[in-house]
Amino acid sequence: MRKKIVAGNWKMNTTLPEGVKLAKEVNEALAGVNAKCDVIICVPFTHLASVNNVIDANKLGLGAENCADHKSGAYTGEISAPMVASTGAKYVILGHSERRQYYGETAETLRAKVALALENGLTPIFCIGEVLEERENNKHFDVVKAQIEEGLFNLSAEDFGKIILAYEPVWAIGTGKTATDDQAQEMHHFIRSVVEGKYGKEVAENTSILYGGSCKPSNAKALFAKPDVDGGLIGGAALEAESFMGIVTAF
Ligand code: PEP
Repeated sequence: MRKKIVAGNWKMNTTLPEGVKLAKEVNEALAGVNAKCDVIICVPFTHLASVNNVIDANKLGLGAENCADHKSGAYTGEISAPMVASTGAKYVILGHSERRQYYGETAETLRAKVALALENGLTPIFCIGEVLEERENNKHFDVVKAQIEEGLFNLSAEDFGKIILAYEPVWAIGTGKTATDDQAQEMHHFIRSVVEGKYGKEVAENTSILYGGSCKPSNAKALFAKPDVDGGLIGGAALEAESFMGIVTAF
């Protein structure tokens, strides 16, 4: 059975003391509830080791927001998958639309990042999603299919089984405009059929597909009630323990 997951993406927010405080708050809040999903926080590189020291890994997973497309060497300023893994992190967000858009990440760089993440025992949370113009021109299914095929379909079925997918329509990220639960379900169902076409029904049924884009406590319940929506990747609402927990407890 596929996992239900709520993952926070802090993006480039919080100083180290602020981040440690937030992680402690989420950790403490989780201790007091019986969460019906896995809970993960993906935090800036600078925070990983310190956050790892203050959370209970049995209740709260830790991830990075990116990793390099090389293992080591002369790549000033980059952070490799082995470095991320050495902090205690277990997850890494890859292919977020902000990285595709602002940092020119291509399918080729993403394939390298996914391979390195997997080699180092990190679970990729692989993001896909269309921009508004693509949806308006009815290209959203083709775009999302191509992102999955080009970024991931080089993997063996065994390795694909380790991937978490996150469908994030770019027009819904940080805009307050959420996809309706029916729009999310329609795309998640399509994504599962694309995975089934390549890897078969069992792999497709076991793949967790998260929704991301202005998910909040007020809309999480309706989104998570849809059969192919297995949880959420949460940006803005993950920056306060109360709103993040409001989403976690929507399951
Ligand atoms: C994100 O960037 O992954 C995201 C879902 O952001 P927000 O929740 O703020 O729309």
